[in-house]
Amino acid sequence: MAGTVVVGAGLAAAHVVSTLRDEGDDRPITLVGDETDRPYERPPLSKGYLQGTAERGSVFVHDADWYTEHDVTTRFGTTANRIDRAARTVALSDGTELGYDHLVLATGSSPRLLDVPGAWLGGVHTVRRLTDSDALRDELARRGRLVVVGGGWIGLEVAAAARLVGVEVTVLEYAAQPLLRVLGPEIASHFAELHRSHGVDLRTGVGVDGFEGPDCRVTGVRVGGDLVPADVVLVGVGAAPNVALASAAGLAADARGVLVDAQLRTADPAVLAAGDVANAHNTVLGHSLRVEHWDNAIRQGDLAARSIIGRPDVYDWQPYFYTDQYDLGMEYVGYADADDPVVVRGDRASGEFMAFWLRDGHVRAAMNVNVWDVNDRLRALVGRVVDPARLRDEKIPLEEL
Ligand SMILES: Cc1cc2nc3c(=O)[nH]c(=O)nc-3n(C[C@H](O)[C@H](O)[C@H](O)COP(=O)(O)OP(=O)(O)OC[C@H]3O[C@@H](n4cnc5c(N)ncnc54)[C@H](O)[C@@H]3O)c2cc1C
Repeated sequence: MAGTVVVGAGLAAAHVVSTLRDEGDDRPITLVGDETDRPYERPPLSKGYLQGTAERGSVFVHDADWYTEHDVTTRFGTTANRIDRAARTVALSDGTELGYDHLVLATGSSPRLLDVPGAWLGGVHTVRRLTDSDALRDELARRGRLVVVGGGWIGLEVAAAARLVGVEVTVLEYAAQPLLRVLGPEIASHFAELHRSHGVDLRTGVGVDGFEGPDCRVTGVRVGGDLVPADVVLVGVGAAPNVALASAAGLAADARGVLVDAQLRTADPAVLAAGDVANAHNTVLGHSLRVEHWDNAIRQGDLAARSIIGRPDVYDWQPYFYTDQYDLGMEYVGYADADDPVVVRGDRASGEFMAFWLRDGHVRAAMNVNVWDVNDRLRALVGRVVDPARLRDEKIPLEEL
């Protein structure tokens, strides 16, 4: 019996293997990952770990001996190079081959790079891996001015972490507001104000033309006619799913991810995909989507395991994500368009509020900012028709809406 091979030893993969064991699957499991570390959580890499407030040991999903204790064979520091679906084998970078009954692709995503002059210069960083965060943290400790390219989640989190350790920060964002395409103008402006109030030089509506510097080391970011001084640069312009392995094996995969059904199976029932790389059919939304968030990697890892053991569970939950920046903690549940009308409950100026995105009277998404233990109640509202005036009225308890 060949058992299950999981490729990509990240968060989703860690949940595939632990749920298989929790559910009593005692068949062989092999976890293949090209990083030398065992699976870890990436959110701290742009937050506490980068700032130096979270220890390295705190980021790992399982203790080091969990894998042997649970009879999971690990092949860390090993890349899966090729899948032979007819033979049900995976060829690895060390020249060996693994057979499988089920193969889970949990290969995640990689930072997008900017195709501009000087993108290769020393001091220009992305952050995806522990080693990236280590390198960026070392640079921030030694140098004074950080330029962040891209006002998305990771860019803003790194900006906040850098300000908290006393670094001067400029954020360059192409759109009119950071996070505009996710949150719409009103809530995006909240994040813009937050960063400006912490001393970030936030410049919007600007495109980066290149990086400049002598001796192969960045000293400035070219923006139109301006050169923004920089000792360190963080490029945070999104991530692309790692689909090459799936595409080469003839599976349906493109820039939207590896196409899978609501049980995370590709057209080949022996091959599944989970986490950042999966473009999966969501039964509550009624369409496929790829979600690049922590909660999705956990839940889809668990779901892939349950599909393997024959459970009928499906991808039937609303997406969720969170961020932490300075003293702002936020959770978001649902799936809205940035131009959906937004209703705010509470006083934004107080820093504690909720927001709801509506379309055709239905709540499509909801967010709680510095208000805790309410996200399950917000989740229960998503998909329902709720009068905006009642949503706004703080005197009406959430459970009575
Ligand atoms: C800096 C940072 C901060 C984040 N913060 C948040 C947050 O605050 N909130 C939130 O909701 N989400 C956050 N996320 C997103 C969240 O971490 C990801 O959604 C999650 O890590 C996805 O897990 P995954 O297992 O699908 O992929 P990954 O964690 O990317 O793991 C995939 C692994 O597969 C490996 N791999 C790829 N191809 C191969 C191959 N051929 N052979 C072997 N191995 C391979 C990769 O190197 C990687 O180790 C953050 C992400 C980053 C990078």
